[in-house]
Amino acid sequence: MRHLLDIESTSVEDILKILDTAEIFLKVLDQPSKKLPTLKGKTVLLMFLEPSTRTQISFEMAAKRLSADTVSFSPSRSSMQKGETLLDTLLNLQAMEIDAIVVRATSPGTPHFLAKHTNAKVINAGDGAHEHPTQALLDAFTVRKHLGRLEGLKILIVGDILHSRVARSNLFLWRKFNCEVYFSGPPTLVPKEFEKLGAKIVELDEYIDKVDVIMALRLQRERMEGSFIPSQREYRMFWGITSERLRRIPESTLIMHPGPVNWGMEMDWEVNERRNTVILDQVRNGVAVRMSVLYHLLAREK
Ligand code: ASP
Repeated sequence: MRHLLDIESTSVEDILKILDTAEIFLKVLDQPSKKLPTLKGKTVLLMFLEPSTRTQISFEMAAKRLSADTVSFSPSRSSMQKGETLLDTLLNLQAMEIDAIVVRATSPGTPHFLAKHTNAKVINAGDGAHEHPTQALLDAFTVRKHLGRLEGLKILIVGDILHSRVARSNLFLWRKFNCEVYFSGPPTLVPKEFEKLGAKIVELDEYIDKVDVIMALRLQRERMEGSFIPSQREYRMFWGITSERLRRIPESTLIMHPGPVNWGMEMDWEVNERRNTVILDQVRNGVAVRMSVLYHLLAREK
């Protein structure tokens, strides 16, 4: 694996390799001393050009748990404010011997662009509405941990599909494992084109009790121009995982959300009372999965 740019072009073999190694790292995270010397001497640049809590901290922790050095690049305090281009910035940072770049950007394709111009390993930490590969990997890891398998599952993703890189990466991943992927949400936010990629567009209330996994997504208001939903109240009523809907969801169904959650809109707080609500476990597993991605890109290079 040269980079991790998207799930679409990542092989099943590489996905399984990442998930299997993450199992080992998760055990390490349970130990009192959580640190391994594996990436000592390597430097990971965190280039977050768009806000992030979970992903940024998770990558930083993952790198540190493996003893890599991390450096953070923040565009608002950088020379990009003086007009320095992304490419020029990259070339200058690379001159300081960076081994890996974790990049989050508003423009789709930014990680692919960087990968063409650097010798460092590039990891996509979310590029616009395109992909968020490590989120899909940690989602798959969490599903396998709780349900024991990846193949042949029924996955229902509800909400703002149009703007969601999480939905796209998950769709690509689950289709590789012969799963059925259902999308549901306001018609303005669930484009028909996704059916060409293998998703089935469905009514939430028809499928809510028939799936193995329900994944709710945040309404990505920062990517919306104009009005995509009638009102927050109506959104909750038609597409929210409300306490009323919760009663129809079997206990065995996993309930997930990539975060951040708009509580009371995409989900009612009562959802947390379910044993199979695994939102925080997704976050926990994310560190192990990102350790694994860094390991496969950096420790195993020739
Ligand atoms: N944290 C995820 C992302 O960066 C989901 C979200 O922001 O709603 O795509």
